[in-house]
Amino acid sequence: MNTVFITGATSGIGSAAVNAFADAGWKVIAAGRRTERLEALASPFGADTVHTVTMDVRDSGAISQAVESLPQPFRDIDLLINNAGLALAGAATPEAELDQWKTMIDTNIVGLITLTQHLLPVLSERRGGIINISSVAASYPFPGGKVYGGTKAFVTQFSQCLRADLHGKGVRVTSIEPGLVETEFMLVRNLDDRNLSDAMYRNACPLAPDDIAGALLWVAGQPRHVNINRLEIMPVSQSMAGFRIARS
Ligand code: NDP
Repeated sequence: MNTVFITGATSGIGSAAVNAFADAGWKVIAAGRRTERLEALASPFGADTVHTVTMDVRDSGAISQAVESLPQPFRDIDLLINNAGLALAGAATPEAELDQWKTMIDTNIVGLITLTQHLLPVLSERRGGIINISSVAASYPFPGGKVYGGTKAFVTQFSQCLRADLHGKGVRVTSIEPGLVETEFMLVRNLDDRNLSDAMYRNACPLAPDDIAGALLWVAGQPRHVNINRLEIMPVSQSMAGFRIARS
């Protein structure tokens, strides 16, 4: 039986991925900060199938502790899905905005590389895989996206360069780049303003978390000799905008 470590499992894409992989017969390590949600997610499957880890990915000590204290049946990890992440917008002061920028960098970049480094030995030993959840924001600029898009550009490039570093080792690395997915992402981005979040998804026919979970399973289920490098997925309703010109 294969084992997958999924971060950001308490909500959205991560929760959908836990359900999809557990349903497909994988053992799942589900990580996030909100313990009650993790327990609710795991309970239909049982502790033999879903092991929960409460950890903040910005805390490198918590990551070491979580990895070191994994129960024996969950130690042979075949796949890491680095999904935990966030965008933040709308700070009242420049200082608060700088804090938001640092939170995005610490979560989306530092947390991701730290957990990756902790799990690389076992993933290399098992010729496993890493799927990093990047974003279309890695490739397409938009107003207000400089730091979030910057973190996701890092995630995509980190994934491709990691692949190059792992050349010949049989470890697969994939960057998945979703467009608009209806999750708690917009609620977090808009500092818990439900109206702003609802407005973003209203009548937009966005992707569902299950759409991305399906893509994750598909990537993981490819024959051993196939590596999906990058996968960009948008809802039909979303497309790229052009350049703007400010006229005098
Ligand atoms: P959600 O807000 O629904 O889920 C985000 C998850 O990340 C939560 O489980 C949250 O768990 C976890 N998380 C956030 N900060 C931390 C932290 N410091 N430590 C540990 N876990 C953390 O959003 P999505 O499901 O949409 O987001 C998942 C990924 O998809 C993110 O990387 C996001 O950037 C990316 N993405 C999302 C898109 C979208 O439109 N929704 C589009 C493109 C990419 P908890 O708070 O319990 O710790």
